[in-house]
Amino acid sequence: MKQKIGIHAFVWVGGWSEEECRQALESSRTSGYDLIEIPLLEPAAIDVALTRSLLEKTGLEATCTLALTPETDISSTDEAVVARGERLLHDALAVARDLGATYLGGVIFGALTRYREPLAPAGRLNSMRVLARLAEQAAASGMQLGLEVVNRYESNFLNTAEQALSLIEEIGAPNLVVHLDTYHMNIEEENFVKPVVACGKRLGYVHVGESHRGYLGTGTVDFPAFFRALRQAGYQGPITFESFSRAQEIANLSGDLAIWRYTWTDRFDLARHARAFIAAGLEAADTPED
Ligand code: MN
Repeated sequence: MKQKIGIHAFVWVGGWSEEECRQALESSRTSGYDLIEIPLLEPAAIDVALTRSLLEKTGLEATCTLALTPETDISSTDEAVVARGERLLHDALAVARDLGATYLGGVIFGALTRYREPLAPAGRLNSMRVLARLAEQAAASGMQLGLEVVNRYESNFLNTAEQALSLIEEIGAPNLVVHLDTYHMNIEEENFVKPVVACGKRLGYVHVGESHRGYLGTGTVDFPAFFRALRQAGYQGPITFESFSRAQEIANLSGDLAIWRYTWTDRFDLARHARAFIAAGLEAADTPED
């Protein structure tokens, strides 16, 4: 089975107007990708019929992700905030399903924000209850839910694969998976192998990003070790390139992600380079070491 190589839509666009949707899908296709990751920060803003028809036309597969905010934080202890978050997640799940995606992931367990306090035990329970219901709903459509492990400046909840595995174990839903991202692993994990192997079959999605979120291979991430670990874990899911630069402003997100520098300006050059880098990395991982 050929492994799918994906690209996050934020390399191309900062929103999802008709023009942005066309641009993102056509650019992904011409850059050689199999899959596009569509952000559902505002599910109601997605034109499902248009997106679906363009996905069919380009032959691209889609996955969907989002990040909650302090206003929709299901790990909050404020019941009204939790309820708002749960509604947003169910709306996002319905849009993802209608787009034909079988994966909804991201920072869906709490807000993507710089917390100033540790997670409250009551907030953790709130998140678990919402995720259990969302997972049940997702299972009815044959979908997986991915918990993206992110660094301490973006979450006070899941900073390591181990924490995500414990949470999934406690919730007990078979379609909950771990979503790992090399950019975040570089900050929080011991190395690029142990967390991948620890996840094993629970690893459901992967973001490949450099330590400075720019061109792959120009930072400190040990990609050869990571790709070999994916093979060791038997991972067959998509490998999606994620990158950010000030060259692509994203409303309500660039600030939270602290995107201050121009790590790239030519998105086509960046995308083609990343596609080739990932393909070569996977091929090297399949070649036995002597
Ligand atoms: Mn990511």
